[in-house]
Amino acid sequence: MEIYKGIPVSPGVVIGRVFVLDEVRQRVPRRSVTPDKVVAEVARFDRALEESTAELDAMRVQVEKELGQEAAKIFAFHQGMLRDPSLTTPIRGRIEREQVKAEYAVAEEFRALSDRFAKMGDSSFSTKVDDVWDLERRILRRLVGEQRSRLGGLAQPAVVVAHELTPSEAASFPHGKVVGFATETGGRTSHTGIVAHALGIPAVAGVARLADHAADGDEIILDGDRGVVILNPDAERVENYRRYIERMRIFGLSLEDLRDSPSVTQDGVKIALHANIEFPREARQVVENGADGVGLYRTEFLWLTSDHEPTEEEQYQQYAEAVRLLEGRPLTIRTFDLGADKGHGSMAHDVEPEANPFLGLRSIRYCLSNLPMFKRQLRAILRASALGPVRVMFPLITSTTELRHAKMVLRDAMEDLAEEGQPFDRDISVGMMVEAPSAALMAPTFAREVSFFSIGTNDLVQYVLAVDRTNEQVANLYTAAHPAVLVLLKEIVRAGRRAGIDVSVCGEMAGEAEYVMLLIGIGLRSLSVSPAAIPRVKRIVRSVEIEQCERLARRVGSFDSERQVLAFLREQVRTIIPEAFDGRAVEEP
Ligand code: PEP
Ligand code: MG
Repeated sequence: MEIYKGIPVSPGVVIGRVFVLDEVRQRVPRRSVTPDKVVAEVARFDRALEESTAELDAMRVQVEKELGQEAAKIFAFHQGMLRDPSLTTPIRGRIEREQVKAEYAVAEEFRALSDRFAKMGDSSFSTKVDDVWDLERRILRRLVGEQRSRLGGLAQPAVVVAHELTPSEAASFPHGKVVGFATETGGRTSHTGIVAHALGIPAVAGVARLADHAADGDEIILDGDRGVVILNPDAERVENYRRYIERMRIFGLSLEDLRDSPSVTQDGVKIALHANIEFPREARQVVENGADGVGLYRTEFLWLTSDHEPTEEEQYQQYAEAVRLLEGRPLTIRTFDLGADKGHGSMAHDVEPEANPFLGLRSIRYCLSNLPMFKRQLRAILRASALGPVRVMFPLITSTTELRHAKMVLRDAMEDLAEEGQPFDRDISVGMMVEAPSAALMAPTFAREVSFFSIGTNDLVQYVLAVDRTNEQVANLYTAAHPAVLVLLKEIVRAGRRAGIDVSVCGEMAGEAEYVMLLIGIGLRSLSVSPAAIPRVKRIVRSVEIEQCERLARRVGSFDSERQVLAFLREQVRTIIPEAFDGRAVEEP
């Protein structure tokens, strides 16, 4: 039995058999052309480029039909890359300069690009390496003819294991034949992961050395909930996971009844349950799962899946769709949180690579240094506020100067719209994410300047503990159970309560079974979690009393280590609501 840890990119667990894919890269030998053939060779490359672009058009339409808009946008992004002269000019240059065949020039330039991407510390680049290979294969196919599909030998349903997997391959998996996949490359924001989500199959990325060790037909457990892959598991492990899969199935059925029940504790206290979404279409699931609204709309995903900065109108259309689908429930729109793990969209070329992207020009800082772009977004948000309840929220605020600047740009946008006679909500609620230690420590000051706080524990944890949230090597140190994090959470909640403003948690911890009681116990009355976690959290809320949660929080406050905190919380939740305890109901591998 071998256990590997990776990054969970699409949830669910399967037990199956391995199908290993060969290396995607093929060696293309260097072949020269005579000087009189160079022009024809460049033309051959241009033709292949044109055909590839047309092929991507067809792919985009088909994928949109089968897997939805988000997955389809990946192929629009690919088209954007093919149009980018910084990629195509060097290829033509190499054919002319070195007098070589187009396929060799393509292979060499794509290899150089992929090396550059892989070396950048910024994971938004390194997770796009699979996109580079995808395009290389596409163009080479036009130049040298059909290549053998790597999935050709797949006869039975299997778990695909590969060094890398391109988004095109994932989107074209033979129907029902691939029940999950694990790759050595990729990460949470990789396009291949987005496709896995759309397909509804579990996936784990960033699993070092897996493809070297796995062989066709090996038994495999793929745990997309926790990012764990187990090769040739022992009988006990298989049995544990079988029981877990069955428990989750039954639990899932029992949750369906919860949809129309209110989110109140046993003693009648309302805990507002909102959802986090990346695309407007998810608002449908928010309603179906019985949430009170959207607590975090990560608008940057529109940009990350486009080949250009979304126009004001494009943004407005998206926000309007979310408002419409929510049927009167509130929509909290967060302004672009670009940079660090979420790239800079198609502006990436204009942004200097950074040594420490998480401490760099990201999020609100990026917006405040691109005011016209920021204003376009604020106008779109304001216009959508005329259609239903909309709140606006600024991410990664670290100082009052920053917050006041952002609010000033918002006021500017309001004045412009008023002058143009465009309708919008003049009393729109303005809030901020509390996700930097400086904001947490100054919460009483900030609470006087905003109408709500949303605590982004994903970032808060990384900044408080000095642990990169995307770095697998220190993943064992990254935990919201650390007493330092819990002390700050309490202080933020207290500051918000004193000022009489709404405080919510929208980081992943809010949706994790072990933390729900604790968060209620320290005073939170609003949580925002992934749409899929809504029923589970509601179930917990409906099973507990406030006093019980407060007792638990007091006890946790007396511990001095994250291990103690976590062990205690797990034991408590397991005792009080065993069926709500998801993934971790199976012993840690
Ligand atoms: C957070 O940081 O907790 C958060 C919710 O924002 P994101 O995960 O998008 O950074
Ligand atoms: Mg954040």
